[in-house]
Amino acid sequence: MSSSKLRILVPVKRVIDYAVKPRVKANKTGVETSGVKHSMNPFDELSVEEAVSLRDKRKLPVEDIVAVSAGPAKAVETLRTAMAMGADRSIHVEVAEDKPLEPLGVAKMLKAIAEQEKSNLIFLGKQAIDDDSGQTGQMLAGLLNWPQATQASEVTISGEDVTVEREVDGGTETLKAKLPMIITTDLRLNEPRYASLPNIMKAKKKKVDKKTLQDLGIDSEPRLKTVKVEEPPARQGGGKVEDVDGMISKLKELGAL
Ligand code: AMP
Repeated sequence: MSSSKLRILVPVKRVIDYAVKPRVKANKTGVETSGVKHSMNPFDELSVEEAVSLRDKRKLPVEDIVAVSAGPAKAVETLRTAMAMGADRSIHVEVAEDKPLEPLGVAKMLKAIAEQEKSNLIFLGKQAIDDDSGQTGQMLAGLLNWPQATQASEVTISGEDVTVEREVDGGTETLKAKLPMIITTDLRLNEPRYASLPNIMKAKKKKVDKKTLQDLGIDSEPRLKTVKVEEPPARQGGGKVEDVDGMISKLKELGAL
């Protein structure tokens, strides 16, 4: 079957690097972001890899891969990474660092961009590791009235037909739908490539369009107020036992036996 031309949109979020241990701000309203290493949300790296591999490994007719990020000026670095991995161009929606969008605002913004770009496939991360909302893909599918498959571990496309294996508790579920479609990515989907130096250089020449929420007609009023952010309780240190008898009496002492 001849395949439809794929116009893929890949939303990528700039978040605190996964290897950094977040520190809660003194006023407990969030985590410290200044002076902290940031990177692309790891689930979004899977999305970019999947989009690019549909073109270069699976040889599907991919017409366009557009990365989009809403965030402060530095979000452009994340877009450059996406383009160095193989996205064709990108869109930066300027949003102040101290007024980040809630998932509903991001979903409305993505709906407007998807309509402008005539996208027919959108890969989002299953969650952003900073706010752990896990909502944007689902809300976007609702707003666009498109089918969605969340937590994808395998994606197969043939013509208009998309088959997605999803990670579910203790196994996988296989779904079929037709384009246009929303897919959210899970860890087993692929292994994101590293951007090579020549591709990083090439990405500097790729286009980054700037847009504002006003341009897109998006109401970004927050509906939620963060009441408090707290560190988990400090863990108690462990103890050593000499032998099995020692372990049994320790467990009894703790009421575990
Ligand atoms: P969340 O619902 O916040 O956990 O985010 C899920 C996914 O939505 C992320 O993995 C991204 O693909 C996308 N997303 C969320 N926030 C943004 C943003 N500010 N810019 C671009 N994409 C975003």
